[in-house]
Parts: sequence; C-alpha cells; structure tokens
Amino acid sequence: MAVSSEATKIALPAPAKINLGLRVLGTRADGYHLIESLMVPVDLHDEVEVALVKAPGQVRLALELSLDAAGHTLSDVPADEENLASRAARAFLDRAGLDDGVEIRLVKRIPAAAGLGGGSSDAGAVLRALCALRPGRLTPLELTQISLAIGADVPFFLAPRPALVTGIGEQVKPIGGLPALSLVLANPGESLATAAVYGAWDVLAPALTKPQAGSTMRALSDLRAAESSDFATRSRCLESLLRNDLEPAARRLCPPVGQLSRQLAQAGALAVGMSGSGATLFGVFEDRQAAEAGLGTLDLGTSGWGRVAATEGDG
Ligand code: ATP
Repeated sequence: MAVSSEATKIALPAPAKINLGLRVLGTRADGYHLIESLMVPVDLHDEVEVALVKAPGQVRLALELSLDAAGHTLSDVPADEENLASRAARAFLDRAGLDDGVEIRLVKRIPAAAGLGGGSSDAGAVLRALCALRPGRLTPLELTQISLAIGADVPFFLAPRPALVTGIGEQVKPIGGLPALSLVLANPGESLATAAVYGAWDVLAPALTKPQAGSTMRALSDLRAAESSDFATRSRCLESLLRNDLEPAARRLCPPVGQLSRQLAQAGALAVGMSGSGATLFGVFEDRQAAEAGLGTLDLGTSGWGRVAATEGDG
C-alpha cells in the first residue's frame, strides 16, 4: 500500500477468511483455547475507508449494511463504538498516544457470526490503514498486542495472506505457494457465536479429540505430494487437512451444519470443511465451473445462503 506523506485517507478491502482445518490443542488456564489452523483469505470483502480528521480523540463510524448472499440485511453488526473497526481505531490512538480523530466508512458484505472473520478483518484493515497513515508509531509487537486484545483472529488480518496460525491466534506464519482453491461457501442461515461453540467443545470434545500438534503441516505436505494423483487420493489428503475439531460442537448446536456438509459432498466437492466455529461450510471443487454446478444442486431453504468463492494468495 503506497501512501504519500500528506495522505489523510485510505480505502482498502477487508477480506473474509476460511480455516483450512482447525485443531484445538488445549485450553490455557485463563480459558483461551490453543489452536493450530491454516487460515486463508477469500475473495469476499468488506470495504473499509479510514480518514484522519481534526477532532482529537474522536472515532466516528459510518456503517453501510449491504445484503448478504441470501439477500438478508446484515442486522446484527453494531454501528457504535462496539464495532470491532471502531475498537481497533480507539486502541491504535490510545496506544500510539495520538491526538488525531478517525472517521471510518465500513461497507459490510461478509455475513456476521458465520466463522468468516468479518469483524476481525474490519479491525485488521483499520489497523493497517492507520499504520500507513501514521507510520512507525507502533512496533510490530505493539500491533500484535492491541490486535489480540480485540480478537484472537485479528493478528492474522494485520497482513491477510495464507498463514499457519497457532497459540491463541497471535503466532502467524505466512505459508507461500498454496494452490488456489475453487470453493462453494454455504451457510444454513443460522448464526453461531464463537464462544458458544468453544463452550460446547469444552464439554464435548476434550475426551474425544486427541490434540495433534503439527498435523496441519503434515497434511498440507501430503496434499502437495498428491497434486497430480487421482480424485480419490487428493480428496483423502484434503479431507485430512480440513479436519476441524470444532465441527462436532457446531453440529451439536446447529444440526443443519451436518446436513449441509453432506449436501456439499454429494454436490461433487473433493472435500468439505467448516470455517472457524461455523456455521459456514465450504466445499473444495476441481475448478470454478464445477463449483458453480455444485452450488446449483444445493437446497439452502429460505434462510440459507451459498456462493462460489476462491482463495486469495500472497499478493
Ligand atoms: P470469527 O470467525 O473471527 O470467530 P465470525 O466471523 O464468526 O468471527 P464476526 O463476523 O466477526 O464473526 O462477528 C461476530 C460478532 O461480532 C457479530 O455478531 C457482531 O455482533 C460483532 N461485531 C462487531 N463488529 C463487527 C463487524 N465490524 N463486523 C461484523 N460483526 C461485528
């Protein structure tokens, strides 16, 4: 992002993410969960515009709610200082000791509470914009600290590109050269609160799931090795990469997750995964054409939504 020294305004896209697998490795004494996940941005974006204004200490948000993929208005996104975009601006001003004011224009397209990280991405975009407008005011460590205090997914969105995310989300290691994936994103039309899904995991899963640190990169390397193999072999490798330890908890809270997952498999997906804490599922297809054909076969009812998407790479 090139910015002249006099710039006072920046517009940038805030991408959604999917999790190509998510392992829960344990729980910290403070209740936070330790995870391992390959997170990848996708071509579904909110738009964020950040302007510095002469109104010391003020953070103002203009929120435009577009329709989500099912044609529903995104109604449960706060328009006040609780919005993660506003909280990010406030945290930056406070930590950097700046007496600027900040105006944010946010156009929401990413469905909320869907496991697609929309709010975290908006916060990350605001922080990236403020870093560009006021360079050198915060160190990378300070930025990671304030982003983590806003949400565990926000450190990833400080530089959204494919990355292995570990710890509670603060350790972000870029992974180059991932194959671009053609996807169908599908959601049964129910919001799932991240805290509720982890709460259900706490009750359900520790006894069932063996923590498997390191299994994400092993599965990725198997997948890369199988690149020119037949459908069944690639499908098996991809399935093992996409294992999401939160899925049984999400299915317990929201049974349509299981039904939609089966539909995506029947629609011809190589493999099906759940993003974050759900309820958005994604099928990985051979190419965009196969994804479009697969989407056409889904029965999403009146409240569900689906759309074709693609992962974004390093650039
Ligand atoms: P994650 O995958 O990071 O756990 P998510 O994608 O499931 O999160 P978000 O879309 O980030 O969830 O929204 C979760 C909640 O955060 C929403 O229900 C909403 O009340 C609140 N929120 C605050 N700011 C925003 C924002 N800018 N966009 C969306 N939701 C926001």
